[in-house]
Amino acid sequence: MQFRDLKSQYAIYKNEIDAAVQDVMSSANFIGGSIVKELEAELADYVGVKHCISCGNGTDALSLVLMAWNVKEGDAVFVPDFTFFATGEVVSLNGATPVFVDVDETTFNIDVEKLEKAVKKTIKEGKLSPKVVIPVDLFGLPANYPEIEKVAEKYDLLVLEDGAQGFGGNIDGKMACSFGHAATTSFFPAKPLGCFGDGGAIFTNDDDLAALINSLKIHGKGINKYDNVRIGINSRLDTIQAAILKIKLRAFREHELDDVNRVFEFYNSKLEGSVVKPVIPDGYYSSFAQYTIKLNSKQQRNKLQNQLKEQGIPSMIYYVKPMHRQEAFSDKSYNELDFAVTNKLCDTVLSLPMHPYLKEEEVEKIAGAVNECLG
Ligand SMILES: *Cc1c(COP(=O)(O)O)cnc(C)c1O
Repeated sequence: MQFRDLKSQYAIYKNEIDAAVQDVMSSANFIGGSIVKELEAELADYVGVKHCISCGNGTDALSLVLMAWNVKEGDAVFVPDFTFFATGEVVSLNGATPVFVDVDETTFNIDVEKLEKAVKKTIKEGKLSPKVVIPVDLFGLPANYPEIEKVAEKYDLLVLEDGAQGFGGNIDGKMACSFGHAATTSFFPAKPLGCFGDGGAIFTNDDDLAALINSLKIHGKGINKYDNVRIGINSRLDTIQAAILKIKLRAFREHELDDVNRVFEFYNSKLEGSVVKPVIPDGYYSSFAQYTIKLNSKQQRNKLQNQLKEQGIPSMIYYVKPMHRQEAFSDKSYNELDFAVTNKLCDTVLSLPMHPYLKEEEVEKIAGAVNECLG
């Protein structure tokens, strides 16, 4: 059994994907070109924003937005404590200071009350100026943007949606990667919409921001890449990856997103008793990058993970460590009481196999093993 089955997907779309890759190879146009432009237009249209700018990966996508906003030393950027390292890394990489904020125990996403508290505390301390908040759509569920945007407006913060795991989700029909002032996603193979290597994209309705990012991602280009008007980076989505993504985006829209939501419903109907299942609030739709359950304790989780392993069922812990406990961020001091929820989640969460090609028998086997272990 696979945790995320990329082989089944390839087997179904093999003919189309192989032909598309072959076409790019025959054309020998490996960088840029019409295929990348077409993909960007399709992605922007799907998400419902004016601009999609593709780039090398989801981390560069975040960093490019911070660069364009001139986020720098002395700026505070608010980041959930429970996320993948990159969300905080890009803040430090750009010289600013990440301020970690605890998350909501039910949705796993940034706790908006605690966000406001952290902003107030930062203002009171007077060392850093609050500049940006980066909410993360963790495990596929959009963060609480309606409330986040209120806080952002009140304190004049820019909102950068980290939709690396959230592509395809929505709140009342408004698509993930359309929230905030800008949003980003990742096409890493295991993400909801993945390519066959690295890839990423930025989404925004802001014309000036889009133009600036288009320059920054190509060595700070002016009229062309040999006319350099600012310091940028080199971050591109390969043409081969774009060709693959065009086919995968169609599969994603046609059935994969529905399929993961069916798997979610089926898991929920089969899991019993003491296990806490993922909760999708009213009006929210998740793209289920992960199906994550909560156990009572670390001991119970270890026992379950071992028993699953014995039966050939893979499971993963996202995430073992809160951001504030990462050695890379150990130059700052933290109050553990500020991170009570994240600390607990890191000890009790477990992600079960989740992908559009997971069969009902497999879900039954997994749920059966979980129920037996905890029952
Ligand atoms: C995967 C991920 C990223 C980084 O994406 P890459 O394409 O791997 O650089 C950023 N943020 C979150 C929340 C992620 O899950």
